Amino acid sequence: MAPSAIVQECPQCAASITGDSRFVMWCPECEWNLRRPDHDTPSTRPGPLSRLRDRLDARFAAGLHRQVLDSGVGTPFRDRGRIAAYALASAVHLFALSMLVGGVWLLAATWPSPFGAVFGIAGVGFAYLARPRFGRLDRDAPALTRQEAPALYDLLDRVAREAGAPPVDVVLVDGKVNASFGTVGLRGTRVLTIGLPLWQILEPRERIALLAHELGHSSNGDVRRMRYVDSAIATLYEIHGAAARVHVHGGLRALAISIVVNILTGLVRLLVVGLIMVLESLTYRESQLAEYAADDRAARIASPVAVAGLMDKLITRGPAAHRHLESAAHRGGDLWEGLREYMAAFPETEEERLRRLARLERARVDATHPPTHLRAAFALSRAYGEAAIVTTDDEMERVQAELDAPAGRIAREIADRARAALYE
Ligand SMILES: [Zn+2]
Ligand SMILES: [Zn+2]
Repeated sequence: MAPSAIVQECPQCAASITGDSRFVMWCPECEWNLRRPDHDTPSTRPGPLSRLRDRLDARFAAGLHRQVLDSGVGTPFRDRGRIAAYALASAVHLFALSMLVGGVWLLAATWPSPFGAVFGIAGVGFAYLARPRFGRLDRDAPALTRQEAPALYDLLDRVAREAGAPPVDVVLVDGKVNASFGTVGLRGTRVLTIGLPLWQILEPRERIALLAHELGHSSNGDVRRMRYVDSAIATLYEIHGAAARVHVHGGLRALAISIVVNILTGLVRLLVVGLIMVLESLTYRESQLAEYAADDRAARIASPVAVAGLMDKLITRGPAAHRHLESAAHRGGDLWEGLREYMAAFPETEEERLRRLARLERARVDATHPPTHLRAAFALSRAYGEAAIVTTDDEMERVQAELDAPAGRIAREIADRARAALYE
């Protein structure tokens, strides 16, 4: 037995429980103390409205899960919700475009009339606010180029080929227990971000699953589609802001004008809010379906078991690594060596507690993702056999060495963030 191991009787069901003094004591038999004792204070207890939303959301997640288990992730371009989102977003984009064309036309046709100038400039100004935004690459983020990380890019190229995705242009490495894929700039530079702590706690095949999932988003066209719909939603928010309530000062006539204008802008706001709600609920469903689709690709490329393993890490060792790094950052010392040691001695009982807790709370990466344990179950239901990509130890070691190059800088950033959080 490890020196930190303790045995006690469960206060609820009297079963004998073995635990680790460094972690929460809990009972696997009756799940006594599954949550940390400080979890359910009155201030954190959800109100009736958020409980209702939570219930509806649980129902939605279960329904979508059943759908993908029964009939797979489907053909993206035949999905009715997706087509509806596209059509609505296109209407909004066309509206913004017509404001630009109309504004320019009004300016040119009525010049130099002040009426034409005011409304023409308003139209062009609105179109400017509603313009598509492409984002840009953060030049300060530690990036690894093809020259600096040939083994990593070789591996990424292999995964991209299997996933049917174009090659990654830039790899960013950061200190999060996460990974993401996106495109930036007008030319759509493909950026993969790898969180070093997440990478550290994964087994080789789970790392392939992670890369395959992210590149699955690329080949599924999720980023492009989301950006198209998201920028339409942003335009709607601009319209909402522009259709503000007005106050006209003066006599009865001014009062009458302001009432009429406010009724009109009120109607516009109502319509816009309705459209935003429809688009957001369509993208809510779509983004979760996109996660299942990316998981499906990852299961084919890295095997279903590898994807399920990755999901399990995301709800067990992932959050634990996050908490460990936060507290270790204050203590100094080698952050990565410390993380390796912490994980090597991480007890199975704590892993199981976190696993059950995540299931109970339907933990997920964020609101755009289905609950992680449902994703694991979906991956395991896929009938893919052997992994399409398997790495040798030597290959993974070379990749690791390349990812370790920015490790010092990332450790300093984690420490800086932890210190800054102290003073907030
Ligand atoms: Zn018990
Ligand atoms: Zn994803």
